[in-house]
Amino acid sequence: MDRVIAAAPQLAGIVPYDPKYLPAHAYLSANENPRDVDDAIRVQIEEEVRAVALNRYPDPLANDLRDLIAQANGLDRDWVLVGNGGDELLFDTALAWGGPGRTFLNMPPTFSVYAANARLTNTPIMDIPRIDGFAIDELRVLQALADPDNGITFTIVASPNNPTGLMVPTEFLERLLDATDALVMVDEAYFEFSRQTMRPQLERHKNLVILRTFSKAFSLAGVRIGYILAHPDVIREYLKVRQPYSVDAVSQAIARVVFRNRSAFEPRIQEIISERGRLADALRTLPGVVPHPSESNWVLFAVPDAPDAWQFLYDCGILVRDFSTAPGLEGTLRVTVGTPEQNDAFIAALRDFVLKPAVATSCTEGSESHA
Ligand code: PMP
Repeated sequence: MDRVIAAAPQLAGIVPYDPKYLPAHAYLSANENPRDVDDAIRVQIEEEVRAVALNRYPDPLANDLRDLIAQANGLDRDWVLVGNGGDELLFDTALAWGGPGRTFLNMPPTFSVYAANARLTNTPIMDIPRIDGFAIDELRVLQALADPDNGITFTIVASPNNPTGLMVPTEFLERLLDATDALVMVDEAYFEFSRQTMRPQLERHKNLVILRTFSKAFSLAGVRIGYILAHPDVIREYLKVRQPYSVDAVSQAIARVVFRNRSAFEPRIQEIISERGRLADALRTLPGVVPHPSESNWVLFAVPDAPDAWQFLYDCGILVRDFSTAPGLEGTLRVTVGTPEQNDAFIAALRDFVLKPAVATSCTEGSESHA
């Protein structure tokens, strides 16, 4: 056959997710941890992985890892589900709680994957845009949820919100959870950098799902492990839609070792938090540059001629994320907190860009040392 029938209609117009990774010296675009897992932990990982039977299917529920996570959170195993990164669990959320005639409440600008998953599952989206300073329009959100005509079945609130940076006040989340029986996922992918979690509220709200990941604070973006904490009845619904073997045996083994050693990651988390402050302070000294407050491992900032600034930084070997044409984020770039050296290089390059825009059209003018 020299033709193929059209793919599902909801795919029309969908652009595949593109992390916009390009070769660079300093990767400050994807909110990863700038430091890899250290050698002492890698030795333990090698031992644990060596013992994995590669010819056997993995434990579908990753129960050993599940138990470690449950124990650390003071919960039983049936309150935890491990996924192939947080991304898989986000997709499963749309599969289980979305669908035609079931509305997803979104609060853009936020993580773009939420809306993409709704589209893929034919779930109508109700957008309630954030207001000044990227705060949630709390009143409108609560009113929308209270109106049964809207048919809202789930919402996802990232706290801290990616890419804007601030946490969502706990009081608001509690009001949200009380105002509706729709599923409320609080995406805590970055909570290790904000120190705020909805875990204490979990037992009181059956409609609360907390999403976490090993990709950020625990340096495992390459391994793909995320998890949710939720009431066992909610977890049971996720079990119906998930891919049985999505979390492979090697990833389970690596994640077990990292989680057992999680206290070793604490100094790095502290470093990221303090570097975040240093980055924001430095950005504030640059003319025309306005950093948004962040409680995560990045800083979103407005800069004049943002697309040119992005290109200038890239020519210096520094990859940041360009949000300058994203709705609600016009004129902004997002820089992930890197190592102190990477952060210094980023600031020096951006300073060159904003101070010498007339002459410095590219980084090649003596800025190569920044890379
Ligand atoms: N939630 C948010 C807000 C994120 O930024 C990310 C990563 N970009 C994820 C979830 C998913 O992360 P992962 O799939 O690596 O666990």
